Amino acid sequence: MMSSMLVRRQLLQGRALRRWALQSRYRFHSGSNAKVREPPLKGWNSSKASNKVLAYGAGGTVLAASFALLFTGRKGSDIEDDARDRRALSGVPLTKLISGWVAFAFCSSPTWVDMSESLYSGISKIPILSSIAHAFIMRTFFNQFLGGETTPECIPKIEALRQEEIGTLLGYNIEAELDGSSKDTQLIRDQTEHVLSSIETQGQLARKFWPESKTAGTGGDNRCWVRIKVTGLLPNPVALYHGSNAILDAREKRGLDSDVPYPGLPHDGDWEAALTGVHDKDREELNHLREILEKIATKARQNNVRIVIDAEQSWYQPVIDSLTDELMQKYNSLDGPATCIASFQAYLRRYPQLLDQQIKRADEKGYKLLFKQVRGAYMITEAARWKREGRTGPGPVWSTIEETHASYNYGIQRAISAIAEQVKRDGKSRISMVLATHNAPSTELAIRMLEQHGLARHAGDGERLVLSSEAAGSLAFAQLYGMKDDLTNRVTGTVTAEGGFPLVVKSMSYGELKECLPFLARRATENKAVLEGRGGAAAERVRLGREIRRRLIPFSS
Ligand SMILES: Cc1cc2nc3c(=O)[nH]c(=O)nc-3n(C[C@H](O)[C@H](O)[C@H](O)COP(=O)(O)OP(=O)(O)OC[C@H]3O[C@@H](n4cnc5c(N)ncnc54)[C@H](O)[C@@H]3O)c2cc1C
Repeated sequence: MMSSMLVRRQLLQGRALRRWALQSRYRFHSGSNAKVREPPLKGWNSSKASNKVLAYGAGGTVLAASFALLFTGRKGSDIEDDARDRRALSGVPLTKLISGWVAFAFCSSPTWVDMSESLYSGISKIPILSSIAHAFIMRTFFNQFLGGETTPECIPKIEALRQEEIGTLLGYNIEAELDGSSKDTQLIRDQTEHVLSSIETQGQLARKFWPESKTAGTGGDNRCWVRIKVTGLLPNPVALYHGSNAILDAREKRGLDSDVPYPGLPHDGDWEAALTGVHDKDREELNHLREILEKIATKARQNNVRIVIDAEQSWYQPVIDSLTDELMQKYNSLDGPATCIASFQAYLRRYPQLLDQQIKRADEKGYKLLFKQVRGAYMITEAARWKREGRTGPGPVWSTIEETHASYNYGIQRAISAIAEQVKRDGKSRISMVLATHNAPSTELAIRMLEQHGLARHAGDGERLVLSSEAAGSLAFAQLYGMKDDLTNRVTGTVTAEGGFPLVVKSMSYGELKECLPFLARRATENKAVLEGRGGAAAERVRLGREIRRRLIPFSS
């Protein structure tokens, strides 16, 4: 088990790397302000017409200035023009480039982004304007960041990605309320149906892209995955909170985890503790949730599709950890295909200990450990909750971003060295890691580690590194659909696997426009947060603008 002392040592050892990382990394603080929205501007609906004029003025000016930028191309010329990215962009249809460019130009305006939701709800009440706004959003933001309104609509986009050797993590867009407020049971049934139908769609596509005969060489994987958010699958997420508290109380009584930061590590007996420590209504909800997850996992197994269970707020995690642990033990057995991918957040102080424990636990209990490693999206709400509950001591999240980076990079090094050890010893690995990040230095670190451990090498005089067939199913990189395509293209241009097996997966959400507006607002806010930095909306706009100019203006570089 790795103590926080060890993390500190890791921090010191990684200082040089981090210095480099801090100098060069893209400032993409996406999830940290997730769902924390500015209050809607009151003025839109009624008397403050001047706000409207200002908004139009500001937004219009930005768009006009952006159009000017598109054709003068001066601003942003310092943003790297990567050859691998340029090659990939040259195959993108012009219409897609333009709609993406407009979406990112819009995201480059803080005024427009802050007003986006209230602006849309205002416009949607005005008959003709509402259809114009709807068409505009569908062709720009929606088309850029989402797969479609239904699973069939996502198929052409999934196929287009696959042509570029990119897999997909498809997910119905469930944006659960952060306050855990209850939802209609019919909504939960609908959401469950969406997950099941995503699995069917991905199953059909998997059979076309990567038939089962080929999965033997990739650890059973075909890179057609489906995303699951547990809080979206039960009417009252508060049952998760109560169950999690019951687990923590029981662990305390058993003297477990006294040296592990909140919310501890998964142990045998957690699920039973959750059920015995809550009231009947919560118990009923938890049992029903478990049945739903079983149903989803069974369907996924039948379709040979992997399900990725998202990590959420720490106060729900003990129950989510316990269910994920159970599903991994049941559906990731050593002699069959693996179906369940857990998610671990490196911004939690517990993470280095969690990862060490999970590798050991999978070894001892004999199942495959599949996990997606993220930094974590709920930093602000984690801190607020900790304070509100009057808890003492440091909160669950590392105090600085440098500690989070060190924790994330520890995960990369720990997992890749364990994969290499297993490949060397047994000829294959029982661990599979998905690096879900938009952070370029972490991505580069992982690629360097693959080479250092002999899991990837330059074959012949090929430009790209080739991942060994034993390791191909053990590592994937993931980014959100429509975002950080430059990083995606750099990865696919740097490292490949035999037969075009995808090493990068794009997380693609879908859903009706009205359901997806909060998701779009979140993406817009994330992009806005890095407006002044490298990466985010400004860089994406420059990147697409450069390609549009190349096509429209002869002899432009
Ligand atoms: C494919 C995909 C799947 C995802 N799935 C999940 C999921 O299941 N659960 C989830 O929680 N998130 C998920 N995320 C979001 C993710 O956790 C991050 O919020 C987002 O990707 C930005 O992180 P990054 O690695 O790109 O990091 P960077 O942009 O390098 O860093 C930003 C992150 O650093 C951390 N951070 C920032 N400031 C501080 C500070 N002062 N102290 C400590 N830490 C700090 C935060 O985690 C913040 O999100 C997913 C992201 C992707 C791309």
